[in-house]
Amino acid sequence: MRRIEAKARPLQDMHILHVNSTYYGGGVSQILASMTLLMNNLGIQTGWRVVHGPPDFFSVTKKFHNALQGAEINLTRRKKVIYERVVHENAIRNHLDHDVIFVHDPQPLPLITHYRKKCPWVWRCHIDLSTPNAEAWNYLAPFIEQYDAVILSCKEYRQDLATPQVIFLPAIDPFSIVNQELSESAVDERLAHYDIPTDLPLIVQISRFDRWKDPEGVLRAFELARKKEECTLVLVGNVATDDPEGAEVYRSLLSHRGERVIILSVQDGALVNALQRRAAVVLQKSIREGFGLTVSEAMWKGAAVIGGNVGGIRYQIQDGVNGFLVSSVDEAAERIVQILRDPDLGQRLGRAAHETVREHFLITRTIEHYLDLIGSFEPEFRLSGEPRDLMAGDLPEEQNQVAAMPPQ
Ligand code: UDP
Repeated sequence: MRRIEAKARPLQDMHILHVNSTYYGGGVSQILASMTLLMNNLGIQTGWRVVHGPPDFFSVTKKFHNALQGAEINLTRRKKVIYERVVHENAIRNHLDHDVIFVHDPQPLPLITHYRKKCPWVWRCHIDLSTPNAEAWNYLAPFIEQYDAVILSCKEYRQDLATPQVIFLPAIDPFSIVNQELSESAVDERLAHYDIPTDLPLIVQISRFDRWKDPEGVLRAFELARKKEECTLVLVGNVATDDPEGAEVYRSLLSHRGERVIILSVQDGALVNALQRRAAVVLQKSIREGFGLTVSEAMWKGAAVIGGNVGGIRYQIQDGVNGFLVSSVDEAAERIVQILRDPDLGQRLGRAAHETVREHFLITRTIEHYLDLIGSFEPEFRLSGEPRDLMAGDLPEEQNQVAAMPPQ
């Protein structure tokens, strides 16, 4: 904390802005909700604005999101016109006179084209960019290259860009509603409120209803596992305002509902917290994942977590040490059964998981990364030093090791 306060001191009274596309639902809004308050606490005036748009705008931007994660896209002129027009309208409404501007994800990306540049602009991409669709990337890259720096979540996401790229692994706020301490009775109360049975071990996945989170794979893994060990599956998701596919994915799952398969679409951080604390196994069986805050959230609570062996999940889970990484439905089912049959194993993984988050994935580290970056812009908005140096910065040795850890 003292180190963070010292780094914030020279930045006092700076005026910083974050722009994204939703106030709730999804990891970006979780991070911004905590980070903007903490930055103000440090004496840095930090604001948060959200771009607005009609449903067809968010339908187009979700297609860009999917394409950046590797899906096909039919990139018509109409899509480009909707995207660029709505962002232009947002630029007209938003009068920006800040000292540094952070723009998150593709939705508000072209904003930069509508301002006379008077400060550094940074594009913060939270998406899994390991295999972006080339057509979508080629269309978006000229916008990205107008920025002074790009922040990515993992080094595998680096692209061939003229703009410097720095790596910040995201992190969780241990005092948010999703993560704060919860008494056993408060956990009981939340689960009872939604009629979630607790007589059998709970297998839980908490995610926006999004195909990349592989809810169908979770259902299939659960069906295989329950043939060997009795358990209850709880799938909880919310729908972010910038994700128009959520409702459809949710509806497509409903036929699987049953006495032992609970599927809920609710916005309730305390329920997320309660489930992560009570679960015998927390799954995050994503097939693409920029980072996956839900993984660190569950690990913080000492849960036994099984994650898809992709993207940012690989930086949080070390297979067999603080959780399990899986690459198929069968593997996920096997790991569920293994943990259910050996509660000591679950506890051991959970203890190591909590320690991993304590050391590497608390929001203080993210704050420090942002302070380092803000403090590194020179006149002309160039970053001082190599981006790699910036990453290493003054971070404690063990954090650098995580950033450098090769994916398994
Ligand atoms: N979340 C929530 N309720 C839900 C599902 C998710 O509050 O029903 C929160 C979750 O706790 C996490 C965030 O939304 O903080 C999701 O972030 P993550 O990085 O896991 O995924 P994203 O949605 O950004 O792809």
